[in-house]
Amino acid sequence: MAFELPKLPYRQDALIPFLSEETLQFHYGKHHQAYVTNLNGLIPGTEYEKSDLETMIRKAEGPIFNNAAQIWNHTFYFESFSPAGKRVPAGVLAKEIDRTFGSYESFKEQFTKSAVSLFGSGWAWLVRKDDGTLQILQESNAGNPIRKGLKPILTCDVWEHAYYIDYRNRRPEYVKSFWEIVDWEVVERRY
Ligand code: MN
Repeated sequence: MAFELPKLPYRQDALIPFLSEETLQFHYGKHHQAYVTNLNGLIPGTEYEKSDLETMIRKAEGPIFNNAAQIWNHTFYFESFSPAGKRVPAGVLAKEIDRTFGSYESFKEQFTKSAVSLFGSGWAWLVRKDDGTLQILQESNAGNPIRKGLKPILTCDVWEHAYYIDYRNRRPEYVKSFWEIVDWEVVERRY
């Protein structure tokens, strides 16, 4: 039972002008696909042969952890976007964002700072803790907060492959565009 690259919930040109079709062709079509292909080659004959991705994220080390987490992280990242979705949070999540960060604008600033300042490759995350409170955190490389018992609700990929075609070295511009494609209905559902 091999893992498969999940279908995108939109066309590869749907996020223009914020992410180009070429970025999607490479980031989704090549990088995301490569993690799937790699993991399928790694797990036969190991204890993870019949595991789901979450189990590997919690327990595996080395290449199996890296590729399993990268599949999960990218699926979660791509599914956070829509070409014409809800661009600000509402309801209980909006209340919790205000309570924790002061306001949505202040949350955006703090998350942006976390994404822009992350050294090297990795992911900025918004997570929900067991008590319903929120936290922003940085994870290097394939890092995923599930490993720490936290529930991810939003992530920004800051590996260079996520933005180099469209933004070259200008990570802050990429993160600014990120807010134009996040679909808060998806994030609210996860919370
Ligand atoms: Mn990526």
